[in-house]
Amino acid sequence: MNVPIRFSLAACTALLLAGCYAVPVTGRHAINLVDDKDVTKMSIAMFDDMKRQYKLSRDRALNDQLRRVGERISKVVFWDMPDAEWEFVVFDVPQINAFAMAGGKVGVFTGLFKIAKNDDQLASVIAHEIAHVTAKHVHEKLSQELAVGTIGTVGMIGGLAGGASGLTVNALSQAYGITTTVGGLAFDRKKEKEADYIGLMYMARAGYDPEEAVKVLEALDAESASGPGPGAFLSTHPTNPERIIQLMDAMPKAKAERAQSGIRAAPVLVK
Ligand SMILES: [Zn+2]
Repeated sequence: MNVPIRFSLAACTALLLAGCYAVPVTGRHAINLVDDKDVTKMSIAMFDDMKRQYKLSRDRALNDQLRRVGERISKVVFWDMPDAEWEFVVFDVPQINAFAMAGGKVGVFTGLFKIAKNDDQLASVIAHEIAHVTAKHVHEKLSQELAVGTIGTVGMIGGLAGGASGLTVNALSQAYGITTTVGGLAFDRKKEKEADYIGLMYMARAGYDPEEAVKVLEALDAESASGPGPGAFLSTHPTNPERIIQLMDAMPKAKAERAQSGIRAAPVLVK
């Protein structure tokens, strides 16, 4: 057992109900000391900023594809993110990059379509990114930083911090890995693997072919081996053989989930 797990369990035990949650799909217990509402509100503001900062793609086909895939994934994560107001945006940026934020905000850079060549492959990337959100990896990262005192005061559950939230845009953007400076991984290897696993189940539940997730990781591998320099996605989502092995191991379960996908009734979303 490694240090982060011990840390989380100890923190969970110490804090009892104050800041624990079970990650969807894996059921892992994690700590959350930040206020969900604060994170969501600030995430939406950051997303709006990005929409102002980057050029939006007018490519009809790419926008339609993202919306089509995004809506299917959003239905299977309905109960993990019931309050999400989904928005799927294609940014006209050549980098290979994609992200999802609390509140249901999903961004894909046009460069990603070099790697994700069909709906199933795009679904695997979107599902992975959304898995980071439903697993509250950003909350957990901020909570751990809070616990060791690297980010100062943040809005805490149950008014532990008292008064107004001190959660900063800077801390949040670093936790998401959306920073102007290069370097600094968004999530550790364990969280990447967890997002891979959860994402694989999500895409399969949405009826997409889980085998395509392996092809995406292989394509990212090839890209990082041959490319002139890693794009944002590659620096925040480093590929490694462990990730592919884990996907292969989970494949039978994912295929069983996919077989059930037609049976599972998605809730009707009122627009
Ligand atoms: Zn990731």
